[in-house]
Amino acid sequence: DQKVVLITGCSSGIGLSLAVRIAKDEKKRFMVYATMRNLSKGELLVKAAGRTLGRSLEIKQLDVCDEKSIKACVDSLPERRVDILISNAGMGLIGPIECQTIEEMKTVMDTNFFGLVRLLKEILPDMKARKSGHIVVISSVMGIQGILFNDIYAASKFAVEGFCESLAIQALRFNLKISLIEPGPVVTEFEHKVYEEGMKTDLSKVDKLTADLFTNIYLKNYNQIFSSLGQTPEDIAEHTHKIITMDNPPFRHQTNTLYTPMTTLKYADPHGDLPIDIFYKMVFEHDKVFNASLNFLKLLRWRSRKSFTLDKPQS
Ligand code: NAD
Repeated sequence: DQKVVLITGCSSGIGLSLAVRIAKDEKKRFMVYATMRNLSKGELLVKAAGRTLGRSLEIKQLDVCDEKSIKACVDSLPERRVDILISNAGMGLIGPIECQTIEEMKTVMDTNFFGLVRLLKEILPDMKARKSGHIVVISSVMGIQGILFNDIYAASKFAVEGFCESLAIQALRFNLKISLIEPGPVVTEFEHKVYEEGMKTDLSKVDKLTADLFTNIYLKNYNQIFSSLGQTPEDIAEHTHKIITMDNPPFRHQTNTLYTPMTTLKYADPHGDLPIDIFYKMVFEHDKVFNASLNFLKLLRWRSRKSFTLDKPQS
């Protein structure tokens, strides 16, 4: 009995890798509906899907910002059945808030947060009626701990996390599962797009110090962080594949053990000053601290390879 998986945002990055990985499941356990806002961007997915296309993978249109498109997509599925929903579509935004318009910020909230809400308004009632289903949400470590110049993006992921925490309690009553996947940096289009947009930020709207922090500290470190800590979309797909095949999937799953120390700080200090202080020192006080922590994290990664099976895809 195949499970029906619906994934959003599959034209690139994590969504594309997820669709392909799940469609190529060794035991053929899944029928994947890989959805995207704009079908004309399906070329990469078609190529990557190979022989699974038309068998265990089908491509459909779905825009998470458009309720009609979500309904039309779900209506087109056999018996409207979705066993596993993977909410992946999302967008980033970096820079000082003084340089961003409320409209731009609303688009991020509308995609990352209300996109998930819209999907669930359409799919949750059916899952409740069947008393079965798994809701998987691609969140971020920034849903747990905010990071410099990611104010609105972090807020959108915090919104996702709070929403899911609240819903998870009700879901238990209906035998439904919810899992938040929390990647650290992943090298995808996302990262390039966000960086390119960041570079274009009109810094004339902000004071010199803020502009300097953004260009000379944040943007300079941006690529270094992705190249030293970044995972591949295939890594995230492998982690997510494990989560959807588990009998008792966890509510939260961080894909990058390098980030565990940072998110742990949050729980270590109930006053909340510790992570802010450490991030401040890492970013502003001296590059030395930053490099030292990177090396420390690399060491942790080296050590954790041995102890965390999920950390390393077994391909
Ligand atoms: P990506 O830009 O390659 O993929 C995002 C996808 O969402 C794109 O295909 C885009 O077209 C799609 N999308 C945007 N708006 C949409 C809409 N209204 N309807 C349907 N699709 C829409 O980037 P990615 O890294 O693969 O991002 C996927 C998810 O992973 C996002 O939710 C992102 O927040 C999350 N994430 C990314 C990183 C990272 O560093 N790349 C880290 C943590 C979490």
